[in-house]
Amino acid sequence: MSEWPIRIQITEVGPRDGLQNQSKPISTETKIALINALSKTGLTNIEASAFVHPSWVPQLADADAVFAGIDRENGVTYSALVPNERGLKRALDAGADEIAVLTAASETFSQKNTNNSIDSSIEKIQPIVEQANSNGMSVRGYISCVIACPYEGVTDLQKVRIISQRMLDMGIEVIAYGETLGVAKPDDIKRMYDALDGVVSPESSVLHLHDTQGMAIDCVAEAMKCGVISFDASCGGLGGCPYAPGAAGNMATEDLVFFAQQIGVETGVDLDALISASRIIERELGCKLQSKTYRAFQDE
Ligand code: MG
Repeated sequence: MSEWPIRIQITEVGPRDGLQNQSKPISTETKIALINALSKTGLTNIEASAFVHPSWVPQLADADAVFAGIDRENGVTYSALVPNERGLKRALDAGADEIAVLTAASETFSQKNTNNSIDSSIEKIQPIVEQANSNGMSVRGYISCVIACPYEGVTDLQKVRIISQRMLDMGIEVIAYGETLGVAKPDDIKRMYDALDGVVSPESSVLHLHDTQGMAIDCVAEAMKCGVISFDASCGGLGGCPYAPGAAGNMATEDLVFFAQQIGVETGVDLDALISASRIIERELGCKLQSKTYRAFQDE
């Protein structure tokens, strides 16, 4: 039997996580064009924006207009990051299909990223989850810095385990693990899933990798061997994190789709269509996207 899964599920996070810290303002029109193009690639989950305070993430201040402007493709889930109850109200009004909430496994990172301790960020999530669930909206819970933190170093995996359990207890169905720094080696991924044994199964989790050291795809391979079948990825490798100095972009969707093709794992995503979608944002950003696969398919 193959060690690889038959199929993986990809959540495209480029329009939110990929764009949030781009300093050049991107027009609402371009964001809508990007999401519409991504919707036609075979991707079934797209994180379209975040309902955060405009002064916190100016680039995503137009989340409501983005949701209002996109052409919704059947079978595609359009999600948004929501930091508080005000954000949830906007997400409900905008008709987001799913929301993501956020905490971290590092106290210092949590303070810098959300202005809250880990405990208080989890307490603030509780009413959001209750209201989302009562409105029939599913919630994905992100934990940042699961392997390492830019301020505190190596993460205690017991903390990741405890926070996962707390999120499950409050009704969050899917836990997403953010390797915020992009420093994980394949062994780290295995150690994390070993530490989660009995709390969260690899099959039910989502893994969010960054490619700072060029190891994201190696970590994907290890994660697949552990049983992980859901990954976040960002078109062209857009992204990084303003609160994680030195972290490069998110794992590129093109790199993940190409790797999956090479090993015979289905993604349902058309690579050519994906590359065309990424070109929309590369043109407006005016700088080269980092994805190795994307670059290899350009005439240059
Ligand atoms: Mg990211």
